[in-house]
Amino acid sequence: MIVGNDPTGRIQRVVVVGGSLAGVAAAEELRQRGFGGDVALVGDEALLPYDRPPLSKAVLAGEREVTETLLRPSEWYDEQQIDLTLGDAAVDLDVGGRTVGLASGARVPFEGLVIATGAAPIALPGAPPLDGVHTLRTAADAEAIRERLATARNVVIVGGGFIGAEVAATAAGHDCTVTILEALGAPMERVIGTTVAELCADLHRGHGVAVRTGALVTRLHGESAVRAVALDDGTNLDADLVIIGIGVRPSVGWLSNSGLAIADGVLCDSCCRTGAGGIVAAGDVARWEHPTLGSVRIEHWENASRQGQSAARALLGEPEPYGPVPYVWSDQYDRKIQIVGDPSEADEMTLVDGSYEELRFVALYGRAGRLVGALAMNRSRPLRAARSLLADGVSFADATEAFNSTEVKSASRRPGPTGVQ
Ligand SMILES: Cc1cc2nc3c(=O)[nH]c(=O)nc-3n(C[C@H](O)[C@H](O)[C@H](O)COP(=O)(O)OP(=O)(O)OC[C@H]3O[C@@H](n4cnc5c(N)ncnc54)[C@H](O)[C@@H]3O)c2cc1C
Repeated sequence: MIVGNDPTGRIQRVVVVGGSLAGVAAAEELRQRGFGGDVALVGDEALLPYDRPPLSKAVLAGEREVTETLLRPSEWYDEQQIDLTLGDAAVDLDVGGRTVGLASGARVPFEGLVIATGAAPIALPGAPPLDGVHTLRTAADAEAIRERLATARNVVIVGGGFIGAEVAATAAGHDCTVTILEALGAPMERVIGTTVAELCADLHRGHGVAVRTGALVTRLHGESAVRAVALDDGTNLDADLVIIGIGVRPSVGWLSNSGLAIADGVLCDSCCRTGAGGIVAAGDVARWEHPTLGSVRIEHWENASRQGQSAARALLGEPEPYGPVPYVWSDQYDRKIQIVGDPSEADEMTLVDGSYEELRFVALYGRAGRLVGALAMNRSRPLRAARSLLADGVSFADATEAFNSTEVKSASRRPGPTGVQ
């Protein structure tokens, strides 16, 4: 039962486009803040909104079904009076007329709009549409790859980013060869730096995965189904399952004639507001002015959830600059990698806890004398301290010193609830 009226006194009908994490978080926040007007959620996928991280982990491994990863049970939408339109894509936005056009031909009126259409995988340039070649973004993608994995003999993963590395870790448990092709020196190197990226490469190799670095794909061979992957050094790798994990692009096609400013995402101010009144954006699709990091677009789970909430508050007339310390995790084999901040362009790095040999450690990353990020492998607790230091904007030297202090060390040695410290 929804009680209360619209606290802004202006907006009585909010449409959220994008039925996933950021969209659901926005809709939920509207209700939690007492918004009593209409809330409609429009998504192009036919399924109830579900969680994506398990797709490359438990769902791909066959340990969970997608139906077990729903963000909210179906009755929640009724309870919250959120009107769901699923399996129908938004195809245009009329800012002046305050309507969203759907593929079905319907026009959905709104007073407030949350853009939460996320991102979609980049296809391998020039590759023909061969059977056995997949990207991984949706439940349908995960189910299709899982089915192919059961009988695949040679799996090639193009791109050693987080998704590619997680798919490799899951595929390694199957009766097939698994190869990661990475254009750079080591998987995830761009984000986590050479030292840790090489540890990760060794982790994969230790599980029987071939990691080929500096590898550029020139062609996919096959008539109707993929047969081999050709590399620029002349190698042809046998392949009957190819997963392309070379990144995503924000899903903004439906906004192309809207007049909204778009440049690698929907451009927003620090409070998630676009240049058009009553229209906000959140999650993987949003590029906003982070109060300390500048113009950023973040493709991580926690951001989509928190930014959805922030965007909803802005719609309700409670804008506040949204400036999180970015956080992402990745599960590969029995290792949990967690990153706070942005280590990608660090010019220094130091180990402050644990050891590289045990693959259980925390490393700090600095740039121009400032702490810019921290990475933990199977060490959750100390990362919280690093996150606070990042929020405080401390220098790299002070952060290193703080980590070596008794206080951080003893706090981080208390075991966490899951046994991962
Ligand atoms: C396989 C996988 C594993 C991941 N693992 C991790 C992890 O371990 N840790 C982590 O931090 N992050 C992870 N992520 C990233 C995280 O899941 C995303 O950051 C998050 O899902 C973004 O949420 P979103 O709501 O912004 O966008 P999305 O989840 O992309 O949702 C957008 C929704 O909008 C729909 N849509 C798009 N266009 C339209 C349209 N025109 N009309 C209607 N609907 C539309 C899409 O189909 C989709 O349902 C993972 C992502 C994937 C794909």
